[in-house]
Amino acid sequence: MSNIAHTYYPQQGRLVILGAGESGVGAAILGKDKGFDVFVSDMGSIDPKYQTQLLAEEITFEAGGHDEALILTADLVVKSPGIPEKAPLVQKLRAAGISVISEIEFAAQYTDARLICITGSNGKSTTTLLTYYTLQKAGLSVGLAGNIGKSFAFQVARAQFDSYVLEISSFMLDDMYHFRADVAVLLNITPDHLDRYDYNMDKYVNSKFRIIQNQKPTDYFIYCADDEEINKAMPRFNIPALQLPFSQQQFVETGAYLDTQNNILISIPNTEAFTMNIEELSLQGRHNTYNSMASGLVAKIQELRNQLIKECLGSYVNIPHRLEHVAYIGGVNYVNDSKATNVNSVWYALESFSTDIVLLLGGVDKGNDYDMLRDLVKKKVKAIVCIGKDTARIHDAFEDDVDVIVNSSSMQDAVQISSHLAVKGDTVLLSPACASFDWFKNYEERGDKFKDAVISL
Ligand code: ADP
Repeated sequence: MSNIAHTYYPQQGRLVILGAGESGVGAAILGKDKGFDVFVSDMGSIDPKYQTQLLAEEITFEAGGHDEALILTADLVVKSPGIPEKAPLVQKLRAAGISVISEIEFAAQYTDARLICITGSNGKSTTTLLTYYTLQKAGLSVGLAGNIGKSFAFQVARAQFDSYVLEISSFMLDDMYHFRADVAVLLNITPDHLDRYDYNMDKYVNSKFRIIQNQKPTDYFIYCADDEEINKAMPRFNIPALQLPFSQQQFVETGAYLDTQNNILISIPNTEAFTMNIEELSLQGRHNTYNSMASGLVAKIQELRNQLIKECLGSYVNIPHRLEHVAYIGGVNYVNDSKATNVNSVWYALESFSTDIVLLLGGVDKGNDYDMLRDLVKKKVKAIVCIGKDTARIHDAFEDDVDVIVNSSSMQDAVQISSHLAVKGDTVLLSPACASFDWFKNYEERGDKFKDAVISL
């Protein structure tokens, strides 16, 4: 008999998994281990790596379409966060009264591990990895999952961790109902993915706040007290967890704040206060100070020693494509921020440079409002080189603010043009504010192509 920690959904019968990516395949394996009759269905093609895994596990699957008749016989459906609620098949499942949940919701039923869950519009991966790095260095039995690495479901099935650091997107949260985070971290809320939320900011905010649903007084809610949307929304929610705000603008008694000497101060009940100057942080930039505060708070809750926390916040090396320095060529600094897929992350990127900037911007526009960039663009951006198909909105947005706005035909072309526009002391910054899938497979490919083009200048 399976070890069921919390049961909310059918525990036997047909489990249908929609979407055979990392999370889907993990959920299929966990489902199989728990005795379900598992069927995996993907509208598109399935990565050969996952096909091999499904075959080895003897799990039935289909690719290139959905066998609706079979799927509608499901007792429970786990859907990939990539499939929108509006998809006709999801609508049919809902109409038939079949539960459709996320992989995280499904897997959480089968573990009693401590769940540290990190969400926000920006900074999720950075903060998740920094937190994981720190907890691991402290020798805790900790897994890393969610939007990153091996799926949570797979690890619940085949690994044994006492705690997990989970990167949670709003799409995942939308299909989470009974899930409870022991520690919830909400980094920020700025417009993103509004196309999936009927262009309604409140819907997106509500989705992010699902991170605290079902929390108890013994749990923790870590959040950014400088964030307008969070502050606006807080009164709407009943929050039983211990609240630990972090701020760079105001004193915080319980939580974290920045003092006038640029020291981070972290105070939580019954422990010695933690302090560290922002100069000593390995991740620089105002946005990363927030991320470090959030990670530091988690580390304090987990009762890590101050010295160890300091060492970790001072030594962590960030993953690529986030304000990644590529090269200095002819005195020009080339920086890859391909992961900046929304306007807010571009704001922080522009904010962190004191030089003139040639900005590579564009791609698939998700309904961007470029207004918040206007002041910084006026002050710092000498030229914009548009990449991707959707360039009209960029021209419209900035034609009065920037003298030079040019289109390019490829990443190589964009880098070539930038190298002519930039002079010694300038920064060429790829920080596109858009999704990448018009010209590229994903943001990694976009960043890699940028780096290749820079290296071959
Ligand atoms: P996510 O996983 O939420 O997309 P990442 O850590 O991958 O976040 O960073 C995405 C982009 O956002 C990068 O361009 C990065 O420089 C920027 N960024 C990171 N942390 C923050 C933050 N706290 N606020 C705003 N932008 C951030």
